[in-house]
Amino acid sequence: MTTSFNPPNRILLGPGPGNVEPRVLQAMLKPILGYLDPVYLQCLDQIQKLLRSVFETENRVTFSVSGTGGAGMEACLANLIEPGEEVLVCVNGFFGQRAAEISERWGAKVIRVDSEWGRPVDMQRVRDSFRRSSARIVVMVHAETSTGMRQPIEQLKHLRDVRDAILVVDSVTSLGALPVGIDRNEIDASYSCSQKGIGAPPGLSPVTFSERALEKIRARKEHPRSWYFDVLLIDKYWSSERTYHHTSPALMNYALREALEIILEEGLENRWARHERNSKAFVAGVEAMGLEMLVAPEHRLWTLNAVRIPPGVDDARVRSRLLHEYNIEIGAGFGSLKGKIWRVGLMGCGSTENNVLLLLAAMRRILESEGFRCPA
Ligand SMILES: *Cc1c(COP(=O)(O)O)cnc(C)c1O
Repeated sequence: MTTSFNPPNRILLGPGPGNVEPRVLQAMLKPILGYLDPVYLQCLDQIQKLLRSVFETENRVTFSVSGTGGAGMEACLANLIEPGEEVLVCVNGFFGQRAAEISERWGAKVIRVDSEWGRPVDMQRVRDSFRRSSARIVVMVHAETSTGMRQPIEQLKHLRDVRDAILVVDSVTSLGALPVGIDRNEIDASYSCSQKGIGAPPGLSPVTFSERALEKIRARKEHPRSWYFDVLLIDKYWSSERTYHHTSPALMNYALREALEIILEEGLENRWARHERNSKAFVAGVEAMGLEMLVAPEHRLWTLNAVRIPPGVDDARVRSRLLHEYNIEIGAGFGSLKGKIWRVGLMGCGSTENNVLLLLAAMRRILESEGFRCPA
């Protein structure tokens, strides 16, 4: 006896995955092609071109790594880091901490510049640590999904006054929803994911590498320890050589292609403005209810909005009621923010005025029935 599986149609307003447009899902119903089929290769060429536009880069080596955001993370760090070298990692949340852990696993001597979760890492301290160290690689999370805080990656390039830095940026929760500007900000390597700002299902990780990053990789004394994430091998498949490396996940790449197409149809500037507008509307509504945001206004992300849980309110109960009574998923806090914040994702096609109004109304009704007094 088999039974069918019927997942409900949730409104996904957590830290990701976000909802996916029907057009993207439909793209996944198309016939699978072999990984060397000339028609499939056209799809990959289009993805590279579309990704360059969304990353705002001319980098030739720009493609999707098979796997979620964490795969792109491994791909960037495993290739750039040579065992024993110092790597400077900025940590003010869970994903900065993960970058430090992964760097260490690939053999780096990690130098951490820590800051309180929810506050920006002080660029003067980054600069001082960089100057005192022998590090070339500097890793920073652009959009820290664990806290809803945006880092000023625009300032990283000034580290080159000190030394020829290799700048690595986590754009997992920013790409496709707020400006990343790889070339403008002189970022050398960046990894993202398909399921947050881009609006495709989870399973692919867009990455991009500058010529300076590739030079460092080509100059390695030994191959990267990871074969699967060896960027030079993967590039041989994506570029003109078309050498087999692994079976490219066709349906996922169709979905990514479609989602990127949708982004450029909307226009990058329009899309950023939509994310900004809906985030600000949500914050205004939350504050009118008497709740507070975790992050100061000038450092807030538009994709991930961290709301402080008011004292006396049961975190898990509110989230469970949102899910069961309103079909809405929001995220919990974790690490040092567990039980202290709710994480509300407004990303991709989920960033709409309707979703904002619906969530605010649902939160108000639940909070009031849980005994929290909202101002009139
Ligand atoms: C989600 C996320 C990741 C990891 O991505 P997965 O797709 O879960 O592997 C890495 N960095 C940041 C900032 C994220 O938000």
